[in-house]
Amino acid sequence: GQMLDIKSIRADFPILDRVLPNGKKLVYFDNAATSQKPQCVIDAMSNFYENYNSNAHRANHTLADEASSALENARSQISNFFGAKPENMIYTSGATEAINLVSYGWAKNNLQYGDVIVITEMEHHADIVPWQELSKEKGVEVRYVPINNETFTLDMEAFEIALEGASLVCVTHTSNVLGIRNPIEKIIEMSKEVGCKVLIDCAQGAPHEKIDFENLGADFLAISAHKMAGPTGIGCLLTSTERIQEMGPFMTGGSMIKTVTTNGSTFKDGHAMFETGTPRIAEAIGWGAAVEWLDQFEMEDIHSHVHEIAAFAGNEMEKIPGIKIFGNPSNKDSSGAVSFLHDSIQSQDLALLLDQGGYAVRTGHHCAQPLMDALGVPSTNRASFWIYNTKEEVDGFLEHLKYICERFS
Ligand code: PMP
Repeated sequence: GQMLDIKSIRADFPILDRVLPNGKKLVYFDNAATSQKPQCVIDAMSNFYENYNSNAHRANHTLADEASSALENARSQISNFFGAKPENMIYTSGATEAINLVSYGWAKNNLQYGDVIVITEMEHHADIVPWQELSKEKGVEVRYVPINNETFTLDMEAFEIALEGASLVCVTHTSNVLGIRNPIEKIIEMSKEVGCKVLIDCAQGAPHEKIDFENLGADFLAISAHKMAGPTGIGCLLTSTERIQEMGPFMTGGSMIKTVTTNGSTFKDGHAMFETGTPRIAEAIGWGAAVEWLDQFEMEDIHSHVHEIAAFAGNEMEKIPGIKIFGNPSNKDSSGAVSFLHDSIQSQDLALLLDQGGYAVRTGHHCAQPLMDALGVPSTNRASFWIYNTKEEVDGFLEHLKYICERFS
């Protein structure tokens, strides 16, 4: 992490100076849930509302033109950041809507009864429930690739077997619970070899490494802005021209139509068919500002900084009597999420005690109940780090965690 000037990075995030009601300084370790936003993102969004707020694509007046241009400029910036063509990027509310769009817009129209969708036990609910719903509706089969309970990695032998006769593979780039990065290149290669389409859920991958759509060669990538310095409420689906041509509308209404008569309607071609209603203009502008902010760094430097902190935290936490880590934070590919449990302090209690020290961590099933079942636990505590976190924050966290463990177990 020598390449990053963390002090000046922290200065971009006003919230990091927040003092909590109990007088403790905020230490934000819940980045896998959502990252904080730099001032330039906040400014870009308020500038839109203060100076050129208008609907996009609706009218021929100056403000409408400015809003429309800003929306499309953001699309160019964001798609460029992800190595995709602007026309192959569909704005969504986030990774959840992007995956639902693949389910309802692509899979529903291209898969038949008995077709097989392969997912994994470590998926977020956003990459499980849409497939279960499709299964109810169309009779597709959903196969779950298990994880190895000791290494916390995907069982690639089981994946190979599950791939037999499959039409679609949906896998998370990085687990939001374990911080484990899956061998997505291998998964994409193996899937394509057997003519299977691939969706990668990049919600947790995009904040940690350069995601290059063209290079990866997957059919669909789902991304959320809010975990990578952007605002909530926006994300995208990146896909190919070929897949877009196979898709049918998911949500219908304004903006996505060519003509509407009382006899029926026709739809726009390309990505416009999937962007219904008033666009998320301020959010797109904010996300554009976020990728511009990120572009001043190398994603590799962000990853090595975050990884260094997570590996240190994980190693030290493991030494505390009673603490168990789920995942492998020392693996160089692992992201900044460190899941843990204490053997006698309940996870909810532990989180509250950490919060009393100012430490914000996530607790619960992390929208990954099948993974919790596989791990044999109802929930975990999760500390997740990002670009602005420091070793000093982790030192304080470790000290506070040791104190809690000694005092309350
Ligand atoms: N997939 C993964 C791996 C995630 O971590 C998340 C967010 N927790 C999602 C999907 C859903 O993203 P969003 O809530 O932004 O739609």
